[in-house]
Amino acid sequence: MMPSLSIQPSLRASVFALLAWAIATPAAQAEWVTRVTDGIMGTRITVELWAHDEAAARPAIEAVLAEMRHIDESMSTYKPSSEVSQVNAHAADGPMHISKELFDLLTTAREYSVLTDGAFDITYASVGYLYDFRKRVRPNETQIDAALPAVNYEHVLLDPLKQTVRFSQKGVRIDLGGIAKGYAVDRGIDVLRSFGITRAYVSAGGDSRIIGDRFGKPWIVGVRDPSKGPGEALLRIPLVNAAISTSGDYERFFDEGGVRYHHIIDPHTGHSASKVRSATVIAPTATRTDGLSKTAFVLGPDAALEIYNRLDDVDAIIVKLDGTVVYSKGMRRAAPAADQPAAAEPPVSKPQGP
Ligand code: ADP
Ligand code: MG
Repeated sequence: MMPSLSIQPSLRASVFALLAWAIATPAAQAEWVTRVTDGIMGTRITVELWAHDEAAARPAIEAVLAEMRHIDESMSTYKPSSEVSQVNAHAADGPMHISKELFDLLTTAREYSVLTDGAFDITYASVGYLYDFRKRVRPNETQIDAALPAVNYEHVLLDPLKQTVRFSQKGVRIDLGGIAKGYAVDRGIDVLRSFGITRAYVSAGGDSRIIGDRFGKPWIVGVRDPSKGPGEALLRIPLVNAAISTSGDYERFFDEGGVRYHHIIDPHTGHSASKVRSATVIAPTATRTDGLSKTAFVLGPDAALEIYNRLDDVDAIIVKLDGTVVYSKGMRRAAPAADQPAAAEPPVSKPQGP
């Protein structure tokens, strides 16, 4: 005899209704969801996360992209209406009240200028605006000499009580292109967390951050080999709860007369900073990794490693001009011995992010 289920008639209808619903609706499935979007902050945004199902992931991803669009609207120097463009237009005339968000990021940018002995300096833009890498335009020495006195982060005067910014002299311009993407990635992670997401990867161009792991496995982030094309990895770094930024001289550049003119500017000379080919920084937040990844270009590998090694939560991988790779203290413990090929995969374990 077949075992029989006895279901009360009143219940039976709802059981059948449930069964019919289950047949009609594909089972909700937890899954990895990835979204790639171009055009915000002039770069590619990637969001990958683990969610109960695609429908649950969609609003979280939309909220991340909305946050990034907002940051782009407020901080892009390509948009004349942005708050940063307004600051550039008027802050030499007197103190300007600005949003808390911009004030805080300007304060953070200043901290990175101090930390990097002035290598990171958002006023690089006072000469930086004279370059157009897409159009192969660069300033001549006379133009650089005229603009250079305006490059100095100390020209940006911040009043925390009044939440105002003022430039101490005319000709000063700021550009947050060296920190806003990292900041946007961190804000993106905050947004995902507010949706209850605990495993995710967010990147904006060369700045990425990871929360959680991939179910017992780390995320693997590739570091490009500067002498090869995109997608050619020099190293693959396993990461959990960490941010990573790579700056490279191959991102935005043109070559002329054997010289590479590219988008990282030495605040002391007004020329492209060319003391390394690439620098990758690993730390708990992407604002931090972005703020530190340009240092090696300006100061050179030795002075930059001195700074990175002083910071307990920071690691770095630098590709020198001759193609050799040098590592910060924490990476060296994990990296292959000097006589082994550099392209091995050093296991990296980072301190847990905030
Ligand atoms: P990405 O823009 O791909 O994130 P980087 O993190 O290497 O690349 O940042 C490069 C950008 O940083 C430049 O396009 C410019 O906007 C800005 N920048 C250039 N030189 C400096 C500097 N000395 N200090 C701070 N920001 C800089
Ligand atoms: Mg960056």
